[in-house]
Amino acid sequence: MKSRPAAVEITSIFQARFPGEPRAFRAPGRVNIIGEHTDNYDGYVFPIAVSMATTAAAAPRRDRTIRVWSENMQELATLPLDRLERREHWSDYVAGVAAMLEAEGIRLPGADVCIVSDVPIGGGLSSSAALEVSTAMAFLSLADHSLDGVALAKLGRRAENEFVGMNCGIMDQFVAVHAERGKGLLLDCRTLDYELVPLPAEEAAIVVCNTMVKHELGASEYNARRADTLAGTDLLKAIYPEVRALRDVSYEMFEAAASQLPEPIRQRCRHVITENQRVLNGITALKEGRLEVFGDLMNASHESLRSDYEVSCEELDIMVEAARGLPGVLGARMTGGGFGGCTVNLVRPGQVPVFQEEIARRYHKATGLKPDVHITEPMDGAREIT
Ligand code: ADP
Ligand code: MG
Repeated sequence: MKSRPAAVEITSIFQARFPGEPRAFRAPGRVNIIGEHTDNYDGYVFPIAVSMATTAAAAPRRDRTIRVWSENMQELATLPLDRLERREHWSDYVAGVAAMLEAEGIRLPGADVCIVSDVPIGGGLSSSAALEVSTAMAFLSLADHSLDGVALAKLGRRAENEFVGMNCGIMDQFVAVHAERGKGLLLDCRTLDYELVPLPAEEAAIVVCNTMVKHELGASEYNARRADTLAGTDLLKAIYPEVRALRDVSYEMFEAAASQLPEPIRQRCRHVITENQRVLNGITALKEGRLEVFGDLMNASHESLRSDYEVSCEELDIMVEAARGLPGVLGARMTGGGFGGCTVNLVRPGQVPVFQEEIARRYHKATGLKPDVHITEPMDGAREIT
């Protein structure tokens, strides 16, 4: 685990490039513990913020120009505030945040900005939301303006949806803003009501294992799943007029109507409906201190994603299988969109060193690939660092 850049460190990186005294804002990456492929159907998710984070340090300029240096990309980008446009470049995330703030009527001064991150980029831990939230907070401070947490999360999402052109949900930005150390964040994606639920680090570590593969079929399969579940929602609406989204369908309602849903629509809907219930059952188990039950629900989530929603892949299944045979593992599942990316594992803290070594060895033996393994605990959401 790399240590996060302290204020002095980011200030010295900033001052190697730019004049002035910057203010620095740090936003974490995230991993979803349970509640996968539910957010688009008004459902529930339960992510945590991870220990890796992105820091944006910024100082004002007198003109209407943003100059942004990414220490990760080792590149400087110049963005004119009066002509912000998408360039298919990493700086689009920063330009998008600036454009959305200005669209909200918040006039920004020019700025020199320095970005430093230890969130793996494109590694499924949402470096994009960490970048959006940290830069949004930096710009807001320069404009002497503030937004509440929900507005800040929505703004980051809009930057990604409307400016970058990536159709992500609200979960990543929401948890980057609202997370708290030692807690997971139960989010109702319909109402944006949320609850912070203790997930004590003394009892379980969160270990994220990257399969190091990303299969290309992801995007087209994603759209196919969405078409199936929306078709299923329409069929269920015809039976239950009160249904607006799959989140309104209980398992009992689903069972009574299942014979009227053709395959694969039936199994796609079953995943979403049972996954929502697993999130709620998982929260109950956590509150009762029954971590084993929570782990079993994570395992069941993986099975449902594998066989009903069909978004797993061989590498994810190998990683999950390898984890389940190891001592101290409470639960293991794929996390994120699927077809590659990461697994998330709940592991008894004393067994983490063995887990880390063995999972890498087993996965490498089966696939020839060396996985990245990140150990974390639930961390705080975005804030200024001083
Ligand atoms: P993820 O969010 O899972 O890490 P995404 O593809 O959503 O993956 O976002 C990754 C993109 O975000 C990168 O390709 C880059 O454009 C941008 N990005 C994230 N972090 C940084 C950074 N520290 N510096 C520059 N660009 C970044
Ligand atoms: Mg992302």
